[in-house]
Amino acid sequence: MALLEIENLHLAMRSFEGEAHVLNGIDLALEQGEIWGLVGETGCGKSLTGLSISRLVASPPARYTAGAIRFAGQDLLRADEAAMQRLRGRRIGMIFQDPTTNLNPVFRIGEQMIDVALHAAGTDPSILGLQADASRSARRKAARALAIHMLDRVGIARASERIDDYPHQFSGGMRQRVLIAMALIGRPDLLIADEPTTALDVSVQAQILRLLHDLVLADGLTVLMITHNLGVVAQLCTHVAVMYAGNIVESGTTRAVFKRPAHPYTRALIAAVPTARSVRGRLQGLAGSVPSLIDAPPGCRFASRCAAAQADCTAGTPPAREIGPGHRVACLHLAEAAP
Ligand code: SF4
Repeated sequence: MALLEIENLHLAMRSFEGEAHVLNGIDLALEQGEIWGLVGETGCGKSLTGLSISRLVASPPARYTAGAIRFAGQDLLRADEAAMQRLRGRRIGMIFQDPTTNLNPVFRIGEQMIDVALHAAGTDPSILGLQADASRSARRKAARALAIHMLDRVGIARASERIDDYPHQFSGGMRQRVLIAMALIGRPDLLIADEPTTALDVSVQAQILRLLHDLVLADGLTVLMITHNLGVVAQLCTHVAVMYAGNIVESGTTRAVFKRPAHPYTRALIAAVPTARSVRGRLQGLAGSVPSLIDAPPGCRFASRCAAAQADCTAGTPPAREIGPGHRVACLHLAEAAP
């Protein structure tokens, strides 16, 4: 059984202009130890997929109209808030995009980390290495020791001193290290990382990616890495799922998808990555933009930008079919779309 299974997930979001069908039948299965990259343009539903797993999408205005999300066999869409709170920060860890806004500026780093450790230990006291009946002061002391250990593990020098600093005393890269430490402090089974390096400069991005890679491998974590950066996927991920306008249009092992991209959108994304052979000053883009998801066009949502589109492409959502072991593509005309 996969650790995380998303099956035919449909999410609608109400706004003043109407109801947008922002997730349109997502299917995804993550086995233990797999690192999945979820890629696509801004607005295609990557972050909403990640937030849906943690049930952090406000409802209303959002509503799940069909489908299921199962984590270790538990149906998350039917779990109550108390059950979700036990999972968040303990079995499901999250790293968000912007390290400058995800730490509370008025509390010391240590206080914020200790809170997370104590919350996780409320579900599993063994995280602190204590019995369930340990005193409050013993739990706080153990939580502080764990926080220092985690800061050390993510490369914060003099962790036992820096733990009493405030977030503004840390650089952006160091704050992201703190958020990684907080996400891992409860020893999660699943880590959802939503664009964890987007707000950082390039040299710090590389350090953070290397750190994440080492920690994930050391702990044998299952990861969903949300990113628009195909280079990150190529470096870090065992598998990739390509999203477009609320649909997963192609998925499989990173090696298979990069070696033999089949969906016209995946090929356009890969072609848009500049290489050493790109002609200077000429970047290859993809004309057009993601369609409005309020009254989205019928059929394949990529049709308005697809050079291979045919009349039947607008008849219904193309079903995903397997073109290699675990390599699935949702396109009606793969032969015609081939270069
Ligand atoms: Fe969609 Fe048709 Fe283009 Fe395939 S060929 S991506 S089904 S529009």
